[in-house]
Amino acid sequence: MKIVITGGAGFIGSNLARALTEQPRVTQIRVLDNLSTGHKPNIAGLDVDFFEGDIQNAVLLDQVLRDADAVVHLAALPSVPRSLRDPLASHHANTTGTLQVLDAARRAGDLYVIAASSSSVYGANPNLPKHEDLTPAPMSPYAATKLATEAYLSAYHHSFGLPVLSFRLFNVYGPGQRADHAYAAVIPKWVSATLAGQPVTVHGDGTQTRDFTYVGTVCRVFTNALLRRIIEPRPVNLAFGTRKSLLDLIPEIEVATGRPAHREHRVPRVGDVSHSQADSTRLLALFPEVTPVPINEGIAATVDWFRASAVIAASS
Ligand code: NAD
Repeated sequence: MKIVITGGAGFIGSNLARALTEQPRVTQIRVLDNLSTGHKPNIAGLDVDFFEGDIQNAVLLDQVLRDADAVVHLAALPSVPRSLRDPLASHHANTTGTLQVLDAARRAGDLYVIAASSSSVYGANPNLPKHEDLTPAPMSPYAATKLATEAYLSAYHHSFGLPVLSFRLFNVYGPGQRADHAYAAVIPKWVSATLAGQPVTVHGDGTQTRDFTYVGTVCRVFTNALLRRIIEPRPVNLAFGTRKSLLDLIPEIEVATGRPAHREHRVPRVGDVSHSQADSTRLLALFPEVTPVPINEGIAATVDWFRASAVIAASS
């Protein structure tokens, strides 16, 4: 199988590229990435073909997708706050970019397309747990682009018969997720701060809850979907119904780092949802054999990665 990963130099994409190199049935991995938020060192040493460029470039897409079997479409400008600062940039990369990828997949001979949507599409809908038939209520431009992503996958399936699958990812964390930028996610930010002896910044009172999913679990589901070619035009939550408050993370991080984490509270962030927890019924019906990595193991692996990265940075 020849697999294209858009956004493959990013956090999830590079973990997936690594996971796919271990699959005997996967004969070639191509990464297409414009390095806007991703980093080439993330895929250094992996047996992948790297194409630097934008998913909005149809000519390049035709070249990268030629004779491939499937596309895992992860390229996007992630983060709610980023989309509040520049909604059009998020729209171009996430919505127009997805449309370009789907159209290229159609031109290439109806390739199988898996894409990353987001739990942010549930937004202002207060119901818990979040099951896929709830009415989406995006609270940010980012969430709107992700709703459009899955809507376009469904449309291409129904209009042109394109084999598709869109996953609503919840809060994915793990090795490779960086803390050194303005839009960093909470786990890498807090692990990095705790290792550096700095306070952890809590927006609001910290009782907001999230369904944290380890990146290795996400990659297992993607790999399984690719190998079994699971087609589903309706979006599928990719999380397991575990609900942890941000404050609950602190003792986990303290245990994994062996250091105390001091809290500093700030005002809540605009566009953030209060609570998030997946209903995983649809996921488990499609992938009954996949079990999630427990959060203590996932955070321990994340801490190990931060420590190893610091050693590499110090010695280079
Ligand atoms: P990331 O920023 O690490 O990866 C995104 C990658 O896409 C980067 O390498 C970036 O350079 C690339 N990219 C962005 N715009 C591009 C463009 N126009 N052309 C080519 N490449 C482009 O983010 P991530 O956390 O790995 O997220 C991967 C996907 O999963 C995204 O679609 C994101 O919206 C989605 N997602 C992630 C999470 C999470 O918790 N990490 C949650 C929900 C959804």
